[in-house]
Amino acid sequence: MATLQINNLHAKVAEEGGESILRGVDLEVNSGEIHALMGPNGSGKSTTAKVIAGHPAYEVTDGEITLVLDDEDVADIDGDVPAEKREWDLLDLEPNERAALGIFLGFQYPAEIEGVTMTNFLRQALNAKAEEREELFEDEDEDEAEADEEESGYDTSPMEGNPDDGEIGVAEFQQLLKEKMELLDMDEKFAQRYLNAGFSGGEKKQNEVLQAAILEPSIAVLDEIDSGLDIDRLQDVSEGINALRDEQGTGVLQITHYQRILDYVEPDHVHVMIDGKIAESGGADLAEKLEDEGYDWVREQVYETA
Ligand code: ADP
Ligand code: MG
Ligand code: MG
Repeated sequence: MATLQINNLHAKVAEEGGESILRGVDLEVNSGEIHALMGPNGSGKSTTAKVIAGHPAYEVTDGEITLVLDDEDVADIDGDVPAEKREWDLLDLEPNERAALGIFLGFQYPAEIEGVTMTNFLRQALNAKAEEREELFEDEDEDEAEADEEESGYDTSPMEGNPDDGEIGVAEFQQLLKEKMELLDMDEKFAQRYLNAGFSGGEKKQNEVLQAAILEPSIAVLDEIDSGLDIDRLQDVSEGINALRDEQGTGVLQITHYQRILDYVEPDHVHVMIDGKIAESGGADLAEKLEDEGYDWVREQVYETA
């Protein structure tokens, strides 16, 4: 089980005199749990997601984001994974490194790439993750031994350096994709579409869930995946999110302004963000209270005690 720990996170817009947005966020998400992060517009929800992702528009001024991994999370890594590679300071890492450690941060649409199908794009994403992961967990002592070997002109590991090493092939990937699309109850034709072929808003959201199913992250951060969806598509996307948790044990940080999606995705924990801080946390009943009473009572609570 992986744990994403956010402690006292402060972040500002990364420019001279940039506005401070996050003002002490505390949050802990374990794999297998669904956390809803709710709050009024402008409270800092998307900024939280972007800072977890390592977005360059924001500068972290205080606090930590730590990812803790257990045996299960590193089961794919050959050999022992030492203690120092089980706890990662995400703020020290590049966005792609964070992703390789098992944090999923939403779908990228490289619109400039002509003629790439979803299938190929997803396969490339999976292979890029595996390669980055291998580098992160590489045993430095072994590296030195390899460097020595290279110097001495001996190569005792002929498989090393093969560019296809560890990559998932086309046929194997097709099988994986088929399984995941079945899991998500998605139309097979979807995967044959071209990336730049103009997906609808709802299709983009479904692609986001599909990508998370393929990459099998420990923790997925989904920002407003419910926005602009009609009720059928909302149900499909919600079932996909439930499947991520139930079938793959993914932890989900589900960012949403509206309670609506929580009728279909039952959160284990609900948090309310007000002005860059978590002002209130609770169970699924908290989301219901917010639907009935709005956010004002939480805001009043914050400013009464301040
Ligand atoms: P939410 O997702 O909760 O609606 P955001 O995290 O998007 O809120 O934004 C929080 C506040 O920070 C808003 O007032 C927004 O205008 C401001 N903000 C966010 N990103 C930037 C940015 N890159 N530059 C300037 N202001 C920003
Ligand atoms: Mg937002
Ligand atoms: Mg500190």
